[in-house]
Amino acid sequence: MTTDARKARVTGASSTIPATGSIQSALANAAAGVSLRQVTKKYGPVTAVETITLDIPAGYYCCLLGPSGCGKTTVLRMIAGHEEITSGDVFIGDRRVNDIPAAKRNTSMMFQSYALFPHMTVWQNIEFGLEMQKISDTERKARVGEMLELVGLSHLSNRKSSQLSGGQQQRIALARALVTRPQVLMLDEPLSALDENLRVQMRTELRRIQKQFGMTFVQVTHHTEEAFSLSDMVVVMSHGRLDQVATPSQMFKAPASQFVAKFMGDNNIFQGKVRHCIPEPASDVDVIELEVDGIGSLYSQGYAVPLGSTAACSVRPDLIRIEAIGAGSGQPNHRVNHVTARIVSIEMTGYVTRITLMEEKTGKDLLCKVRTTDWEADPYSEGQVVSLRWSEGDCVFLPH
Ligand code: ATP
Repeated sequence: MTTDARKARVTGASSTIPATGSIQSALANAAAGVSLRQVTKKYGPVTAVETITLDIPAGYYCCLLGPSGCGKTTVLRMIAGHEEITSGDVFIGDRRVNDIPAAKRNTSMMFQSYALFPHMTVWQNIEFGLEMQKISDTERKARVGEMLELVGLSHLSNRKSSQLSGGQQQRIALARALVTRPQVLMLDEPLSALDENLRVQMRTELRRIQKQFGMTFVQVTHHTEEAFSLSDMVVVMSHGRLDQVATPSQMFKAPASQFVAKFMGDNNIFQGKVRHCIPEPASDVDVIELEVDGIGSLYSQGYAVPLGSTAACSVRPDLIRIEAIGAGSGQPNHRVNHVTARIVSIEMTGYVTRITLMEEKTGKDLLCKVRTTDWEADPYSEGQVVSLRWSEGDCVFLPH
């Protein structure tokens, strides 16, 4: 995203928060970018993070996504200063923070468990960090009041934190993390303890607050949907390395590797060997013809790779058309991918109907997703053999 686009996003945010000018400017001015340069973290023989370089611009919401053990939390903890780095450099804004202790990095961390003090009131919980910083009484009072207003819980200021619901505790934890006006807020799976409805509600709330003030948030999550809905920038990690850094939309439309395509779930991935790379004069990408055992040629868009190399292509389940056998055969198009498959099961999940199929020649499992209204207008039955088609432009080439 360009700086202008980001500014437009930030300034164009909704004005549902009755924020005072002071809090707005204090939080926005505090925001700093984060840079990791060739950072490695080893725990004895275990390499948790390996030579990663990552730039998170100021004011971005960045989500670190990946399977358990891939190194997400270690990255977060190294930025926060809770973990020493083995080699490389970490910058917050222009400041190299390798040797600066956590308490002096101007960052805040919000934990999955919220880590509120149960014997203290809501007010005292939020005020605690300011007392540690020896902020004056008047300033403390003003800042805690503003934060309570920001998270909409002013009426609960005298309640003990142990007497709050999960969602309320989460809001207080956020207020406590922001009251010190950190340059970067780190969030370690902040929504995972909440039930599904509350999680969606709180994720909207987090995004609203981050967006309104243009703060820098870095969050760890296991959930693709959560990362996509919150972020300006998604980082997918595996085995201590970065697999892809992209906007949610780029990552959804064009996963950069088989790992990312699989991790996002539901993509149909075909393994094969590159037979041809066909330059497209009007485009900066080539059409790649992949020879897939038992299926034949499948066409996707990508960048030229050596002929004969092993690779894959991926198509999203919502981009495959289901047709009756023989339909469309009057307009042959060698660039339209085509396989024949038998419908194994049909699940209506609400707006979307999931159709699981088995490719006729290879037995490969395939998945299509169709809007329920479209499916019901033109349904097929379990056991029926159908034709599946998708264009080369909807198919992403994935080199090994
Ligand atoms: P999860 O999603 O399960 O929290 P993660 O992606 O956050 O996982 P990390 O917690 O960063 O992964 O761990 C990365 C790797 O480093 C894992 O193999 C883990 O076992 C290892 N690791 C983490 N902390 C330590 C430690 N203190 N000592 C030894 N190994 C560790």
